[in-house]
Amino acid sequence: MLIGNNSVVSIHYKLTDDDGNTLDESTEGPLTYLHGASGIIPGLEKELTGKVAGADFKVTITADEAYGDHQPQLVQQSPRSAFPADMELEVGMQFTATSEGGEMMVAITEINDETVTVDGNHPLAGLTLHFEGTIDQVRDATEEEIAHGHAHGPGGHDH
Ligand code: ZN
Repeated sequence: MLIGNNSVVSIHYKLTDDDGNTLDESTEGPLTYLHGASGIIPGLEKELTGKVAGADFKVTITADEAYGDHQPQLVQQSPRSAFPADMELEVGMQFTATSEGGEMMVAITEINDETVTVDGNHPLAGLTLHFEGTIDQVRDATEEEIAHGHAHGPGGHDH
């Protein structure tokens, strides 16, 4: 069957950046998602539409169809004293911060004696993404999956 809205699709994939560095890879079994439900980035979903199980794909997706542009206003510096003194801070540490726009996930990108820089952008924001892989399986979604807006089973959600 052809991949379309309400297909449950399993893919093996490798994601690399412009320099060929691997950013992500489906090493623990295929990724399973519900097509047409924003389960994966728009550019990749578009590319997979109309393909069948067994087909290979190789696609380059610019930031506007992936995780969006890197927004400088989401990068903020806070005084070290804004964090609990006994909290061990590390670059790469992620936590939930409360801002004017509500709660967001941020990551520490830089630490020095005085200040801590946190970035609320998605780690892949602003990047052109290169996906390469194979479509493992395509099946119709169940009514429950459509109601939940995601795929169930191996590689998907467990409820
Ligand atoms: Zn569910």
